[in-house]
Amino acid sequence: MARIVVIGAGLTGLATALLLGRDGHDVTVLERDGAEPDGHAESLWRTWERPGVSQFRLPHQMLAYWRQLMERELPEVIDEIERLGGRRINPIDTMPTALTGGIRAGDEDLRGMSARRPVLEGALSAVAARAPGVTVRRGAKVAALVPAPPGVHGVPHVDGVVIDGGEKLSADLVVDAMGRNTSVDRMLDAIGARRPDEQAEELGFIYYCRQFRNNEPGSVPVTGGLIPYEGMSLLTIYGDADTYSLCFYVASNDRELRGLQDVDAWERALALFPNLGKLRSVSTPITGIQVMAGSPDRRRSFVVDGAPVVTGLVAVGDAAVRTNPSLGRGSATGLVQACTLRDVLRDVGPDRSDEFATRVAEAIEAVVGPLYRRTLAQDRNRMAEIQADIAGTPHRPTGATWHLQRALQRLVRMDADALRIYMRSALHIEPLDPAVFPATLRAKIEALDVEAPPYPAGGPTRAQLLAAVAGRPLRTVA
Ligand SMILES: Cc1cc2nc3c(=O)[nH]c(=O)nc-3n(C[C@H](O)[C@H](O)[C@H](O)COP(=O)(O)OP(=O)(O)OC[C@H]3O[C@@H](n4cnc5c(N)ncnc54)[C@H](O)[C@@H]3O)c2cc1C
Repeated sequence: MARIVVIGAGLTGLATALLLGRDGHDVTVLERDGAEPDGHAESLWRTWERPGVSQFRLPHQMLAYWRQLMERELPEVIDEIERLGGRRINPIDTMPTALTGGIRAGDEDLRGMSARRPVLEGALSAVAARAPGVTVRRGAKVAALVPAPPGVHGVPHVDGVVIDGGEKLSADLVVDAMGRNTSVDRMLDAIGARRPDEQAEELGFIYYCRQFRNNEPGSVPVTGGLIPYEGMSLLTIYGDADTYSLCFYVASNDRELRGLQDVDAWERALALFPNLGKLRSVSTPITGIQVMAGSPDRRRSFVVDGAPVVTGLVAVGDAAVRTNPSLGRGSATGLVQACTLRDVLRDVGPDRSDEFATRVAEAIEAVVGPLYRRTLAQDRNRMAEIQADIAGTPHRPTGATWHLQRALQRLVRMDADALRIYMRSALHIEPLDPAVFPATLRAKIEALDVEAPPYPAGGPTRAQLLAAVAGRPLRTVA
């Protein structure tokens, strides 16, 4: 069994520690933020200071895929989330029966997990605090990697870490779970390692979110989901304790929509969605407008051209792969990487350092590579579509999958099969595969009018949205 140091006690770092500790490894998690979680949902939300995670109080949806993996691998985390007030929630239950045709076998797969991010992380922390083999040290910022003496390994090898203040901790394996702003490149430079392979693409999304508490959850349900409209998308995410969030996802170069950071402008924009009027009228805001921008889709690997740039060190979670948050895939992608690392460790010890590094990279590519590429293709098309809407020109999409997604989105309101297939892909359960679609659905897709308006949910036009944000009557829009 190995001595393992995990750097970072975020969603993936903690899940990794739990999985490895349960396999008998001796795991120490080092977290730079000093504050301890206190085990109560409202104080986790109100007072837990986590400056190391910039998105800590932003809405997070835990997709069905994450809930399925967590239930299978770490069911005690799901129990703890529920103890804190989170819920397994099935989007089908929140939609009108006329749309869904009622609950069917297989719908249980669609259940996600609803809780605010501090509550999710509080639950993981509580389970980690009582897990045998796992120690979490908060207020322990890792400043550097400890290199093995030269000549022992072919490439720079990591033997442990140095904590701010000088304390050294030896390890058979160090796991970078430092999140989207990982400082591992600086640490690798300091031990003379080459830079990891990196693919990054700035898609240019920005988010304007507000969180609410629904005071009448019994009579006015919240329906979650990401719905595209002309020039922007609107995302609804469930939280715990009857909270929910609404986010406008727009292009960061869209100057006219920057006004959405103003609470009155944001509320005027929201009022353009009449289907949300009843919900808004029975809800109390629990935040102001939360703005977050600049999140490139990015993938990194410590194996370049088939050879490791470093051994004794692997990366998981956002440190290795991150994608545009509107699709809510970060935590699920992190969790599947943690499971993959655990599986490789069952086969190959970190003492076989080159083989271990290569096996981890290959295994993570096998599970995460296709997810990443699908997400990137979807992000590119959506951003191109938004830019075309801003310019008032037609969008010319690339890739058959995008056409299929849009076709299904147009059919979800009239075909219960299309609804399920679309949701299984959106909730990250399985990719779209037209070969398994019912023949009737394939026929409906072929019969769709290609000239029909691209946004089946209707909603405001861009001109209406700009007028609302600017606080001017629509007739003054050119
Ligand atoms: C705006 C926004 C919205 C999002 N919405 C969703 C969503 O709806 N659903 C979803 O699944 N995902 C979402 N994500 C992604 C999700 O937040 C990440 O995928 C997830 O937090 C990754 O977990 P992690 O453990 O890899 O990193 P993090 O959770 O970021 O944790 C990294 C940890 O490392 C610590 N750390 C950093 N440096 C050091 C150091 N030197 N020493 C010690 N500790 C260190 C940090 O303090 C932090 O605690 C969103 C992201 C953003 C930006």
